[in-house]
Amino acid sequence: MTEGTPPQDGSLPELSPATLAVHAGESESLVQGATQVPVVYSAAYGYPDVDEWLDVALGRKPGHIYSRNTNPTVHAFEEKVRILEGAEAATSFSTGMAAISNTLFALVAPGQRIVSIKDSYGGTNQLFVDFLPRQNVAVELCATGEHEQIEAAIARGCDLVYLETPTNPTLKVMEIPRVSAAAHAAGAIVVADNTFATPINQNPLALGADLVLHSATKFLGGHADALGGVLCGDPGLVAKVYHYREITGAALDPMAAYLLVRGMKTLALRIGRQNESALRIARWLVEQPAVSVVNYPGLETHLHHDVAARQMRGFGGVLSFGLEGGFGAVKRLLPRLRLVHRAANLGAVETIAGPPATTSHVECTAEERAAMGIPEGLIRYSVGIEDAGDLIADLAQAFAAG
Ligand SMILES: *Cc1c(COP(=O)(O)O)cnc(C)c1O
Repeated sequence: MTEGTPPQDGSLPELSPATLAVHAGESESLVQGATQVPVVYSAAYGYPDVDEWLDVALGRKPGHIYSRNTNPTVHAFEEKVRILEGAEAATSFSTGMAAISNTLFALVAPGQRIVSIKDSYGGTNQLFVDFLPRQNVAVELCATGEHEQIEAAIARGCDLVYLETPTNPTLKVMEIPRVSAAAHAAGAIVVADNTFATPINQNPLALGADLVLHSATKFLGGHADALGGVLCGDPGLVAKVYHYREITGAALDPMAAYLLVRGMKTLALRIGRQNESALRIARWLVEQPAVSVVNYPGLETHLHHDVAARQMRGFGGVLSFGLEGGFGAVKRLLPRLRLVHRAANLGAVETIAGPPATTSHVECTAEERAAMGIPEGLIRYSVGIEDAGDLIADLAQAFAAG
């Protein structure tokens, strides 16, 4: 776990996120003049002096004991995200789902109550409808974007509020300051999944959340070659989750941490490009007769555009669109696209497209997806860093083929 110097007055440090993405968090892990963070593959760390060993083991001195707990490469990754999120502490995990499950199981006890939204990530939804209720944790899921409904649910008693915004795959937006105020009035902790926005577009801690987490597999790493998860925020809460993760063992691998650190150096560049391209493609899709709906918070016509514009600096690289012809049309259109990976991922330098049935909501039945407001004719489209004109031309030739 990483507990660094908190940024001045609780806001982001003075350097811009683009600079921090390149430099932040690395200095402690550089060795022998290396300019790049090394991959440290050592299960344990040796101490000839037992007193020093004891000091490190008891946290009285910085250092590492065993790589299930902390590791120099992993530490650099945690530091980089911590600083970009303006957080006081951070810890990491083998995957995004490990971050989410360890956080929820570490912070909530049997008999307690969670309030969240209906269209969180499919794996998160499975924790809410199956794994947590089995441990006698009550979960109430509210319609996403219906702020009065979630405020009423919180007021009925609540220990933890879990938000994801924008959501996957319909890009609904929750107002983090408003929900956080209601949660804090009820004595609840607020956890926000910031995977879709990234710290370049949105900082949930500055908006009132107590904890922010990411699937680093997506935009943070950005190259679809490493799995990882990360949690940042209040030091007491992060410490609690870190101690739980030490024991459950869902540690981030040093090679994955190295790839994530390297990927994050271009985070601001990539997100800037993806924000611009996604908006341009969303505006183009709106004009297409075969398209029934376009979900992108950057569109003025999006239901939550005003809220998104207040709390986000950019609207992100993911959009989704519905086809008039339903799932049959999805099956015809996807194979015709030449510049996309048809895969269960998002947030990479390559554009990725797929239906919720095989991606974000593969765990759910068609009926469950329908109940969550996810039509079978939907395509999630994660915009890469290719030229936006080329991507539009690719979509145009696929639509033109009928
Ligand atoms: C992918 C994703 C997750 C899960 O992350 P993994 O790294 O695949 O375990 C959680 N939340 C959101 C929003 C995601 O897109």
